[in-house]
Amino acid sequence: MNVWDQLQRPLRDLRISVTDRCNFRCHYCMPADIFGPDYVFLKKNMLLSFEEITRLAQLFQDTSGIKKIRITGGEPLMRRDLPSLIEMLASIDDIEDIAMTTNGSLLPKYAQRLKAAGLNRVTISLDTLDDERFKKINGRDVSVDTVLKGVDAAREAGLGIKMNMVVQKGVNDQDIVPMAKYFREQGIIIRFIEYMDVGNSNGWKMDDVFSKSAIIERINKEMPLDAIKPNYKGEVATRYRYKGSDDEIGIISSVTDAFCSSCNRARLSAEGKLFTCLFSSKGHDLRGPMRNGATDDEMKEIIKGIWTNRKDRYSEERTAHTKRKSKVEMSHIGG
Ligand code: SAM
Ligand code: SF4
Ligand code: SF4
Repeated sequence: MNVWDQLQRPLRDLRISVTDRCNFRCHYCMPADIFGPDYVFLKKNMLLSFEEITRLAQLFQDTSGIKKIRITGGEPLMRRDLPSLIEMLASIDDIEDIAMTTNGSLLPKYAQRLKAAGLNRVTISLDTLDDERFKKINGRDVSVDTVLKGVDAAREAGLGIKMNMVVQKGVNDQDIVPMAKYFREQGIIIRFIEYMDVGNSNGWKMDDVFSKSAIIERINKEMPLDAIKPNYKGEVATRYRYKGSDDEIGIISSVTDAFCSSCNRARLSAEGKLFTCLFSSKGHDLRGPMRNGATDDEMKEIIKGIWTNRKDRYSEERTAHTKRKSKVEMSHIGG
């Protein structure tokens, strides 16, 4: 069972943003001067309830047979009682894998409960091991140790762990090798992410991108790498292994080596809009029809219609598109 878009891509992977709020103000995602005290976040009644999210996840499963769900945000752990949502999602038949992307700061409080509720894995974001640089990047004076305590808590709870590092030229590219070494010693896979032109607030310039090939060159000089095959079709990270070992890293090269042709991800925003691309200017409202009483069959038809019309391949067309004005913010749909 599946639905296919205009470029013959199936719908396989659902990413659900549960909040647009965050306790960090990473300058590339929610810069403090824009997301300040006067910024208007979504009101509670605008957010999808846990019941609505679970119903939609079930409808996506019925429509396309999705097996994987990723919870994201904003910072997903800012959403009250998140473990209850995980438990509800875990009870859907045939959902095999529930993961969450988080800044890690609240994991010491929630990791055990999340694991007990059915969460399988976390991806924890950390851009440097240098406290001063990290505080500048996160905009909220949060120390590296706070995130590392989150990593420990996830490990103690038995959650699978990967790390995400967004690399910005001249900001934290000097941290690539120290991060690679540190997490290799910890036995945790780290994925280096090219800085992307998501949203309108981060003032992105191509010059700020530290490319996949430059990242590999840096690491390869110190710790030689071999390329390895993807785990599955549509995997976004290109994988490498340190020569002579099983230790692995990944690179997500959305800018210099786009992977739109295998992109099978649907993104549901916290207020119930379906985005068919990370760079979409607008989402398709699913909350409205649900609250207006649409039946399951009607909702499935809506989802099918949106996916079968999908033609997005923004990263592949980036050069032509960079002048476009309005894009959704990363903190809105969660990466
Ligand atoms: N708050 C959580 C976190 O930071 O992990 C989840 C949401 S965050 C939007 C998801 C991922 O997107 C994080 O790993 C973050 O570093 C990444 N991200 C945010 N803005 C980005 C950008 N402009 N380019 C590349 N990655 C970005
Ligand atoms: Fe918050 Fe994550 Fe965005 Fe940083 S990247 S501001 S932690 S949502
Ligand atoms: Fe998928 Fe859009 Fe990213 Fe291409 S640009 S990989 S279509 S999310």
